[in-house]
Amino acid sequence: MTAFVVGLTGGIGSGKSAAAELFAELGAAVVDTDAIAHELTAAQGAAMPAIRAAFGAAAVAADGSLDRAAMRKLVFADAAARHRLEAILHPLIRAGSADRCAAAPTPYAVLAVPLLVEAGGDYRRRVARVAVVDCREETQVARVMARSGLTRAQVWEIMATQASRAARRAAADDIIDNDGELAGLRPQVEDLHRRYLGLAALSYQS
Ligand code: ATP
Repeated sequence: MTAFVVGLTGGIGSGKSAAAELFAELGAAVVDTDAIAHELTAAQGAAMPAIRAAFGAAAVAADGSLDRAAMRKLVFADAAARHRLEAILHPLIRAGSADRCAAAPTPYAVLAVPLLVEAGGDYRRRVARVAVVDCREETQVARVMARSGLTRAQVWEIMATQASRAARRAAADDIIDNDGELAGLRPQVEDLHRRYLGLAALSYQS
């Protein structure tokens, strides 16, 4: 049972998943809000009855999961629809991630929240520290283009909806530099892991 939670965040393509994997390898429990959102909207997912009620059968694929392409199109064109979807999903994601962090059988848990800085105080209040995976914006663009086949302009468009690099760095307690080779991540994550074990131990004494 752990109460010491580290929020892990970063912009699109910054390397959050790569960093989270290293924390997990070192033995930290990793709770991923994106993964929880996927579970909630899979066939039989806990959010699907409310989504069907709010958006109708057109939002649901033949297997009962969320029709992601249809929903993406809908919320892109309609801010009210996006808010309705968020009003269904966000409380379930918050509750699910809090339960998993609390139940983690490790001294501390890493809560991966891609939009932690954008969410404002909500997630900030729930974590003891914020670790930001950071790289230059050009590096993000290059990585996302290589991974997704999106154009440069499309990637910049997504990045424009996210917090700026400066805002994210300003919100960070710890910065993980991922502008260089992937091999450079491991020693930084190892250092933080040691630091978080120490801080978690102190927090249990107080
Ligand atoms: P997203 O928010 O878009 O899911 P993310 O922040 O989780 O992204 P990753 O999926 O870890 O980022 O990394 C994005 C892409 O860049 C992946 O294809 C990954 O293999 C690659 N990548 C991550 N770090 C590095 C690095 N240091 N050098 C080269 N490639 C990297």
